[in-house]
Amino acid sequence: MSVTIIRNGRVIDPANKRDDVGDVFIAKGKIAEMSDVKDQKSEEIDAKGLIVAPGLIDIHVHLREPGQGHKETIASGARAAAAGGFTTIVCMPNTSPAADNPATIAWIKDRAAETACVNVLPTGAISKNIAGEELAPIGSLANAGVVAITDDGHCIQNHELMRRAVEYARMVGLPLLDHCQDSNLVGNGVVNEGYWSTLLGLPGWPAAGEEAIVMRNILLAELCDHHIHCQHISAAGSVRLIREARKRGVKISGEVCPHHIALTDEAIQNFDTNCKMNPPLRTRADVDEILQGIADGTLSILCSDHAPHAGFEKEVEFDQAPFGIVGLETELGLFIDLLVHKHRTIDIARLIGMYTVEPAKLLKLDAGTLSVGAPADITLIDPKLEWTVRKDQFQSASRNSPFEGWKLRGHAVRTIVGGKTVWKLS
Ligand SMILES: [Zn+2]
Repeated sequence: MSVTIIRNGRVIDPANKRDDVGDVFIAKGKIAEMSDVKDQKSEEIDAKGLIVAPGLIDIHVHLREPGQGHKETIASGARAAAAGGFTTIVCMPNTSPAADNPATIAWIKDRAAETACVNVLPTGAISKNIAGEELAPIGSLANAGVVAITDDGHCIQNHELMRRAVEYARMVGLPLLDHCQDSNLVGNGVVNEGYWSTLLGLPGWPAAGEEAIVMRNILLAELCDHHIHCQHISAAGSVRLIREARKRGVKISGEVCPHHIALTDEAIQNFDTNCKMNPPLRTRADVDEILQGIADGTLSILCSDHAPHAGFEKEVEFDQAPFGIVGLETELGLFIDLLVHKHRTIDIARLIGMYTVEPAKLLKLDAGTLSVGAPADITLIDPKLEWTVRKDQFQSASRNSPFEGWKLRGHAVRTIVGGKTVWKLS
């Protein structure tokens, strides 16, 4: 029997409201009690000065298999996750073919079981081929084991179709995640509509294009009495809408990606395509409202929107380049550095909660806690470790990051999945 004891770390387990210096015991791949490991031969890990957290969960990741393995494979994406401190990642269905049917979900699960060093949980599409015209077989997707449905990358424009999707999701007990983008308002917009889009002559993507769909989702969550989670919130108005609705008890929530607080649309002035994301970088006022939303609990989940693209795909004119950046290996450092050290928006315990108990609750996962009997998925974190982002050291198969050379404080030092160390800082 393999037994491991993690000694003398600051154990932060928000699900159990635990925050103290102590030991964590692992036996048979699960979190154990001291009595379970007594008098047994054990491996010891010294965690003095480190945080011992439940394995972090990223609920918004694009792995490019099936179809675009040159950008990322399930194996390389999982290695990037482990190096970022993540033990569980939730992958989006906009693959090729789209994950809108049980066969593709089965393929992804098999591939993950064979090749991934962390837990990979697939989502299914809401609509067939993510085209927004006809619903995907949501019941069969639930049976195939998806943890949620989303059309991420696209957004269903027909509110009646979306209403039916929410009703089906409720019926089969699936969470619904939505990429909030009104196609008519956004048109061919590629950057935030405002000063910089005007100055640079690039088509604008107005904040109202996100806010209109956030409002739609609030109305449908109320109408159907089912939870809707709004992905990658970028605009101040979206935060205000979600805050007001949550106060009234509406089942609505939102997530934040690091680039939407680390950068503003000023970053696009050199036409760097690594600053092109969807939704786009916005203004200082938007960043400030998002920080406020994180501080007061309006926005409850942190994630990356890890979106790998090959160099040749990004090295084209700004409006031709694909949207998105890689994020798994920089998000924890960026969030600790910005939210805990620089802006003091939240403390490290809340940050860990936003990466563990909150996503686990949303997606009803058996993860995100150090409760006895839970899978021994654990992340050791040095919250003060100073490091410099170097793209050439990424485990990801892609390099599209705007954070090259950034000096950050905070890094995972060891990632443990099911009791086994899958990555260690060397
Ligand atoms: Zn998206």
